Amino acid sequence: MSDFNSELMSFIARARTPYHGVAAMAAHLTENGFSELKEAEPWDLAPGRYFVTRNQSSIIGLVIGTSDPVRTGFRIVGAHTDSPCLKAKPNPVSVNSGYIKLGVEVYGGVLLNPWYDRDLGLAGRVTCREGGLLTNRLLDFDRAVAIIPSLAIHLDRGVNETRSINPQTDILPVLMHGDESINMDDILATELRREYGEHWEGTVLGYELSFYDINPPAIVGLHQEFIAAARLDNLLSCFVGMKSLIEANGDATAILVCNDHEEVGSGSAIGAQGPFLKSVLERITPDPQTLHRVVDRSLAVSTDNAHGIHPNYADRHDGNHGPLLNQGPVIKINSNQRYATNSETGAYFASLCEDQDIPWQKFVNRTDMSCGSTIGPITAREIGVKTMDVGVPTFAMHSIRELAGTRDAHLLHRALNAFYDDPDAPGATA
Ligand SMILES: [Zn+2]
Repeated sequence: MSDFNSELMSFIARARTPYHGVAAMAAHLTENGFSELKEAEPWDLAPGRYFVTRNQSSIIGLVIGTSDPVRTGFRIVGAHTDSPCLKAKPNPVSVNSGYIKLGVEVYGGVLLNPWYDRDLGLAGRVTCREGGLLTNRLLDFDRAVAIIPSLAIHLDRGVNETRSINPQTDILPVLMHGDESINMDDILATELRREYGEHWEGTVLGYELSFYDINPPAIVGLHQEFIAAARLDNLLSCFVGMKSLIEANGDATAILVCNDHEEVGSGSAIGAQGPFLKSVLERITPDPQTLHRVVDRSLAVSTDNAHGIHPNYADRHDGNHGPLLNQGPVIKINSNQRYATNSETGAYFASLCEDQDIPWQKFVNRTDMSCGSTIGPITAREIGVKTMDVGVPTFAMHSIRELAGTRDAHLLHRALNAFYDDPDAPGATA
């Protein structure tokens, strides 16, 4: 288990943006015998291992099984590659008192307070013109280049009672001393030369760059109970899904879809509301009649983290539904379809866990609080596949540093292994 967690933590440390996460997953799948498919080329899929990416930030891994999918259905695991963060604006440089600050957009539901006083790196994708061609270049400064210093308590005495944060004015990362001559595109060109060699020549025309905490993931707790890391939501599930896909036995067709843009509603060409997964399913099973029959037999597990009951704020949970860290995967339920689980799919996942002696838990929100959501209901709606929402319990979701239990990722991994390899056609019999 500790090897599993070490690998998880080094994956998260590398996957600082969806672009870097997908690159790391593609490399790992390639090392494990998966070959890359290109959407622009024709596919001829024999049983075997494949993956395909879109926009460099969403990825689908496939193990085309040897069994007839009309009998077994597809076994689909879903997760998302993006995490809430601060993204640099297109013209971000602003100067005040001789300091260069960078304007940011807030991507997704960021918990803003924890971003103060962190050593921040910057990474993402830069689109350049090189020799008349447009090129996408991944870029990672890979060191602390900025920080958002807190305002001293002496200058804001009421801070612990009343502080609110204006994202336009209060959370601009400070980059350096400088004046109006500083230009972001020049900074990026210099950094591109550092990453791609001094001979690199080009013009920066666009970018999607986000700040991240350079502090690497760590095991914490007196008895090493917890994993503290950025982006556990939802790189933990991407990693666990990927490990399980690699171990799939190749009987039923196993699919892993990791979408970008979940944190902003999934409505894009690469998000779960877009056509990426559907188009891949249509290319696995081109005949529409057959595909409808396969989808009817298929199941999807949407994996995304759950809210463990916080010991300082236990009243934020329904008294009968407080998942505990290190007590196994959580089945997430919401009758208003913020989660896609129903009695049949939830019971199926519970029975998989029971068969493997994996502890499992249930979560439902307090009725007087609104509920988060996942790619689960969206995938169910777009594909028509029976879906369940599950995930490991965590604290501090959407903080710059989140917390999970050291036992839970591996327990989820075992459950997903059982899901991919379940010899029975999934679902209830009547
Ligand atoms: Zn999530």
